Amino acid sequence: MKHLLTISTIIAALFLTGCCNKNENTPRAKHVIFLGFDAMSSIGIQRATTPTFNYLIENGAVSLDTRCVRETSSSQNWMSMVTGAPIEMHGVTGNDWERDNYSIEPAARNSIGLFPTMFDVIREQKPDAKMYAYIEWSGETRMYDMTVFDKALYSNKEKGYSADELLQQAFADYLADEPELLFVSIDITDHQGHETGHESQEYFDCISHMDKQVGEFVKKLEERDMLKDAVIIITADHGGIHYGHGGDSMEELQIPVIMYGKGVTKGKFMAHANMIYDNAATVAGLLGVELPRECRGRFMQEAFEPKTDLCYVPVPLIHPFKGVVDKGEKVTITVDTEGAEIYYTLDGTAPTKESIRYTGPFELKESCTIQAIAYKNGNYSLVASNFLYTAVPEGEASIEYKLYKNYNEKKLPDFTKFGKADAVGYLHAFTLNGLPVAETEDHYAVIFSSTLQIDEAGRYKFELASDDGSRLIIDGKEIINNDGSHSRTTKYGVADLTSGSHIIKVEYFEDHGGQSLELRYAPEGKTPRPIFPSELKR
Ligand SMILES: [Zn+2]
Repeated sequence: MKHLLTISTIIAALFLTGCCNKNENTPRAKHVIFLGFDAMSSIGIQRATTPTFNYLIENGAVSLDTRCVRETSSSQNWMSMVTGAPIEMHGVTGNDWERDNYSIEPAARNSIGLFPTMFDVIREQKPDAKMYAYIEWSGETRMYDMTVFDKALYSNKEKGYSADELLQQAFADYLADEPELLFVSIDITDHQGHETGHESQEYFDCISHMDKQVGEFVKKLEERDMLKDAVIIITADHGGIHYGHGGDSMEELQIPVIMYGKGVTKGKFMAHANMIYDNAATVAGLLGVELPRECRGRFMQEAFEPKTDLCYVPVPLIHPFKGVVDKGEKVTITVDTEGAEIYYTLDGTAPTKESIRYTGPFELKESCTIQAIAYKNGNYSLVASNFLYTAVPEGEASIEYKLYKNYNEKKLPDFTKFGKADAVGYLHAFTLNGLPVAETEDHYAVIFSSTLQIDEAGRYKFELASDDGSRLIIDGKEIINNDGSHSRTTKYGVADLTSGSHIIKVEYFEDHGGQSLELRYAPEGKTPRPIFPSELKR
């Protein structure tokens, strides 16, 4: 422990009464309904089918490029979202932060020595305001003083609540009691992203499921005329890409903010990027309370300013969203809005209205990069394009695999010690698809070998995701070690490659439970994609 709580308590008491005077702010609304969804990225809500969110955006305001703080993980971002402060002020640096184990002292303290949240501030400045909290991820509650809530339902060591349970209870309680602040934090969206990927239909479906429940709630609120003095805010702690987050891609950094309700300009597209900590400042501004001066969040004024010509056009979704498709497989492009036109390119250039207009599913004839954009009412999708890297098998498969069954260890084997393989064959991609194993089969090991053709010498980055362990070896040198019995984990590595042929090997083993393997690469500075079959030879 780095700080005595008793001293902090005194400082906090001085602080809260001394500096944090009740301000003269006029509240803009009596109630705020604040819904946060873990890892619901900006691009995720655009790709997913979300009639409720679309309705709220059309009749309210939206920001698609609000940024979260780095690194793009949960603890520091929830804390920034609810305090209005950056990491350097609130001191929650990451998921390993604990109340008695931290490196940065909070710049201000509440009565239990933590940086004051908007909840503390509301409790202090509006003692009679009712505040209800519903939190799925138990880790979140270690950062807040949970005693300030009039009602709090949250997962802890003894009991975990599901997203649906919490949403249903939160909505029922709001309809019954109409608290001044309803705070809901949902985690299932993050789990789904980790499990099946942030580009998977399952992740989009998970967002759609949340959208549906919010929709039923909004319908009831409107039927009962309960939104005339309330504002709904829907946002996320961070985004995600592939099977995780924590990095600096825009997919991970950008989160949506949707605002709907009293005073919010109908159809307002927020053109200026917000920060995640502007959320707390906006809640404070709406309810007429003032955050500590250590906060840096700003009220999202833009949501209340006159409408401009900008409007929400979601990025299109390309199906199937995967690396390898069969030759002749049909590609479909959809967009989650009425009346938008879709344009796409197949040559790696950014699409515009001059590109190919999408009129219906088309067949893929060769490996290519598809990029698509939607266009509506003079506006393009904000995200420039949506990528699909497609590898269509050309000629004979070039990746040899050797499969060994009944391998029952917790780490990769020494493949040179194995005898005759149980199966040998060739595949077009470094994946498990096409191996002679059942989808639920456990306990086996595989080594893949091929020759990678590099046209341009330079530094290449590789991503290797697997459940369980895997290893990437190029020209006998280990580039990525992702070994061990674990759930889907992505590891990264770089290799300086000369132009010409390079021996590439991927080792993999499945312990038990889920199984997956994915290899991506790109020259440094480009977005990684699967290796095209045309880039490999036997
Ligand atoms: Zn996560």
